[in-house]
Amino acid sequence: MTGLEFHRHLNLQPKSPSERAEILANPGFGNFFTDHMVDVCWSENGGWHRPRIQPYGPIEIDPAASVLHYGQEIFEGLKAYRHADGSIWTFRPDANARRMQASAARMALPELPAECFLDSLKALISVDAEWVPSAPETSLYLRPFMYAKEAFLGVRPAKKVAFYVIASPAGAYFTGGVAPVSIWLSEKYSRAGKGGTGAAKTGGNYAASLVAQNEAYAHGCQQVLFLDSVEGKYLEELGGMNIVLVYKDGSIVTPLSDSILPGITRDSVLQLAEERGHTVTRRPVTIDEWREGFASGEIVEAFACGTAAVITPIGMVKAEDFTIGSADAVAGELTMSLREELTDIQYGRRPDTHGWMYRLDA
Ligand SMILES: *Cc1c(COP(=O)(O)O)cnc(C)c1O
Repeated sequence: MTGLEFHRHLNLQPKSPSERAEILANPGFGNFFTDHMVDVCWSENGGWHRPRIQPYGPIEIDPAASVLHYGQEIFEGLKAYRHADGSIWTFRPDANARRMQASAARMALPELPAECFLDSLKALISVDAEWVPSAPETSLYLRPFMYAKEAFLGVRPAKKVAFYVIASPAGAYFTGGVAPVSIWLSEKYSRAGKGGTGAAKTGGNYAASLVAQNEAYAHGCQQVLFLDSVEGKYLEELGGMNIVLVYKDGSIVTPLSDSILPGITRDSVLQLAEERGHTVTRRPVTIDEWREGFASGEIVEAFACGTAAVITPIGMVKAEDFTIGSADAVAGELTMSLREELTDIQYGRRPDTHGWMYRLDA
């Protein structure tokens, strides 16, 4: 099916303009949701059908729905940005659509045609455009997700699936300036294994990261860094962000592994760096290389990247037996200038020479 026609069931009790204004003044992240959501069904016999816009609210789900038992579920995350002229845009949504298809293939879920993915974002913006904030570095976070809803306790791919898109206004990630984070090196837990689901955007990877994330908090760190599950020495990524290292000569290295989630932010930032003349290499990198490279002055910057925070400088890595860097490190120069270039494109402050921006409100 292509070009879904969304049936509109409008929310008769939307938030009032003043309630909405109050939320948009200080939304934080993931706390508040817009008035509507997209809801599309899939069944083995009927394919994708019954595309709807409906009031945001609880979903009825059978207690035997397989997602609740076996976790057959995937999601995406992207943002709607308001430009100075009031228009609303998103960033490389075709890449999110393709990645959702790849996640679906890995999790034995049906692939949503890219055109339907894009149409569903536009349909939601057509009713909730006023929820896209306009203050600097704010956005409307879009969360498409798909889950197995068939009521069946046998173990096989579900024959009934639901696709939804919800939206949540997001404040500036860093209030009071971009500050480097400290990350905890998890030597006990892995987020994904060889041949596992690490490259799919699926809830189970996040569930697997939570105890390690708690360990990070207990050690005064904000994020957790995972290593490969086989040898426990190659860098993989953080719980929800990819990682990039910058060398003294300006070259850039990012870990290569089939259990890393292929981030669109990382891909974009590395492309911008390549266009500036930096050598970018995707290869296995060990934690020892980082440790020794930092000590010798060979590695000069490190950052994490993902849609939510864009680029987060890494000030310190803390492990049981050693640390790299320090908690009061300042953000790297290249880190900050790449962040600025990318956000300038996203917010329409710089020309989009790559055709990355996609208009949602027209
Ligand atoms: C979503 C995600 C990222 C970042 O991907 P972006 O496309 O840049 O937002 C990185 N790692 C994990 C585990 C993720 O789920």
